[in-house]
Amino acid sequence: MQGVKILIQGIVQGVGFRPFVYNLASRLDISGTVSNTSEGVIIHACGNDEGLNLFKAALKNEAPPLSRILSIEESPLYDPPDFDGFSILISSSSAGSSAIIPPDISLCDDCFNELSDPNDRRYQYPFINCTNCGPRFTIVNTIPYDRPKTSMHVFPMCKKCQKEYEDPGNRRFHAQPNACQVCGPSISWHDKDGKHINCDSIIEEAVSALSQDRVLGIRGLGGFHLVTNAFSFKAIQTLRERKGRPAKPLAIMVPDIATANKFASISKSEHDLLLSPEHPIVLLKKRSDLPFPKNLAPDVHDIGIMLPYTPLHHLLFLQNDCPIALVMTSGNISGVPICIDNNDAIARLSHFVDNFILHNREIVTRVDDSVAKVISNKTHIYRRARGYVPSPIVIPWKLPNIIACGSGLKSTFCLGREKTAFPSQHIGDLANMESYDFFIESINHLKQVFGVEPEIAACDLHPDYMSSRYGAELDLPLYKVQHHHAHAVSVMAENSIEEPTLAIILDGTGYGTDGTSWGGEILQAELTSFTRLAHLSHLALPGGDAAAKEPWRMALASLYSTFGKNGLMISNFPKTLSCLDENKCKAISSMLINKFNTPATSSCGRLFDAVASLLGVQHISTYEGQSAIELETRALKYAPSTWKDDLLKFTKHKSSTFNQNDHGKWEISSAEFVKVIIDSLGKEKPIGAIALDFHFQLIETFTTLTRQLADQTGINKVVLSGGCLQNSILLEGFTHALTKKGLEPFTAGNVPSNDGGISLGQAIIGGLSHVSSTPNEGNENRR
Ligand code: ZN
Ligand code: ZN
Ligand code: FE
Repeated sequence: MQGVKILIQGIVQGVGFRPFVYNLASRLDISGTVSNTSEGVIIHACGNDEGLNLFKAALKNEAPPLSRILSIEESPLYDPPDFDGFSILISSSSAGSSAIIPPDISLCDDCFNELSDPNDRRYQYPFINCTNCGPRFTIVNTIPYDRPKTSMHVFPMCKKCQKEYEDPGNRRFHAQPNACQVCGPSISWHDKDGKHINCDSIIEEAVSALSQDRVLGIRGLGGFHLVTNAFSFKAIQTLRERKGRPAKPLAIMVPDIATANKFASISKSEHDLLLSPEHPIVLLKKRSDLPFPKNLAPDVHDIGIMLPYTPLHHLLFLQNDCPIALVMTSGNISGVPICIDNNDAIARLSHFVDNFILHNREIVTRVDDSVAKVISNKTHIYRRARGYVPSPIVIPWKLPNIIACGSGLKSTFCLGREKTAFPSQHIGDLANMESYDFFIESINHLKQVFGVEPEIAACDLHPDYMSSRYGAELDLPLYKVQHHHAHAVSVMAENSIEEPTLAIILDGTGYGTDGTSWGGEILQAELTSFTRLAHLSHLALPGGDAAAKEPWRMALASLYSTFGKNGLMISNFPKTLSCLDENKCKAISSMLINKFNTPATSSCGRLFDAVASLLGVQHISTYEGQSAIELETRALKYAPSTWKDDLLKFTKHKSSTFNQNDHGKWEISSAEFVKVIIDSLGKEKPIGAIALDFHFQLIETFTTLTRQLADQTGINKVVLSGGCLQNSILLEGFTHALTKKGLEPFTAGNVPSNDGGISLGQAIIGGLSHVSSTPNEGNENRR
């Protein structure tokens, strides 16, 4: 007989790990104990050599589906006690300082079967769950992850539930949210003013309302949804008008994968992603003959689809007359965080909805639906929230306890400790007090859940971001990080790259070390420093930030920078701009000529805006990224399936499109893109073709220059990051073209390449700068 002590760290709490170990030990005739401790799960195991080897192998290979093992350490047990069989020890209350709380997980198959079985005691119970599924992060107040520390503490378990909870052989052993209709939370039906309505079946009432095109406010897992019939133009129009969301595409929920397949073409990887435990909204290629009204997702190539993830979603779809596609959008006033509280929802959303489904299980922390897209068989997360947060990103470098405060738009923050980084859920634009409050609440919550007390902080170089101000007020050593350096290091961290790399960062905006706005950059990036090697030549931003919302302003700026004053003569405008207001054009022209309120930018996002407007695709954006998304859609519609081969033949543009300036930096001429566009418009080429050419020209120019920089620096690795790389033509095209030129491209996946990924990059740069005493980017006078 041999004895061994095994320490397992990772996501091993609240995922059925101890019953798994218990059952495994019984099967292999191992005696000993298993317990949750502050360090992780500790196992004392005794058995013969063969049994122990099988046991150790199975711990890794057969671990429960929701667990994620980060490390296993073993040491011999000299003098092992004489264990009487195998037992699960009660967890010590100090458990959890390096324990990790799992994310919220979609309903599992076993629970779904019980939910739809009339003979089961949880038949049609909207809160059914087990150790393999259900709420976690959204109900946890603090560690250790035990029922009294969750919002389930107000629901004492009935005898039957308690028995399941205590039985190591049961699927609900230590399932903290375990409940049934006798003892657990319940749903209720209300009118739009919150008045309770008695009825026989809430689900039937709700489905009947949905089939009559009404809008429901449904309290869900991480917040409220606004829900309506996706087949009804009128229902969608009502929702859009009430919410003040004129054009932004709406995501839908459908009952199952077969239905999803009717509306979108789904690859194997997309299929797996839709059905993954996380159940994100997946952006899929729309089929051409869709039965949906035009106002569901106008002028975009993709449709966002998710599958039901709570028992309540399934109950709706199990009703025969439920529409097989429901619009499910965040229950919020545009720009502020989603509502989580019943009273708050009634106060804020009553004029959006016709009825509410409420429930009485408190949502401790707000978590939006996650959004992801598969490009070249790899999952790219665009919004990282429900299902993914708070799973850690494991990195190869040791960080001090750090908080990275993130960016301004699409913001997240990130906590770092040892070799793990915990990016927060998507917080949103820190543009108002409500969002800022959510930011602060989430910081406090995540600190509590992981027991991390930051010793240092990192923030963006932009002095006016609310997140930067928060960082400055913390009274901790503060590392200010350049925005695009953070974008680059975020991707380096995900790919465990520590040597110097080249970074192509195509982005909306970020504060540069020279005080101008950057966003079309090639950097030489290292973990704690960077050099700006190249950038797009400057365009003026007429009216500053307002230019980002009104692409037509960028069209004028681009005409001015390309053709001078002549370009601004309305008689010289391309026909695509003929719908613009003449007086407004004159006002902007005079701003440009007089250099009045026209800060300079090298942003790629703003170049996209200019092109979208020049092509008549989009003159005013009603949501962030709209013009770029619609430009991509036009190009994709036009692109043949072999477009990547065409990309390699695309060498119409000479290397004279970039030149070295007085500071030795390479400038990529924005005017060259504009010239080609105007020329093509003159030749009356189809808009889709010109849009596709623009993508190709951008890829070709950056790739050629990157190849040249690789030769000069001897660096072969290239990271791709920034908001513009959510564009699939750019991401696929760059990956393809760089590879063909003998370079090694790396992209984001687990963490967004948009500003949601900034905080991870900041945590690494700030943390490692602190450890290595590297000077602060904010204090250094860089060019
Ligand atoms: Zn389950
Ligand atoms: Zn019960
Ligand atoms: Fe950015």
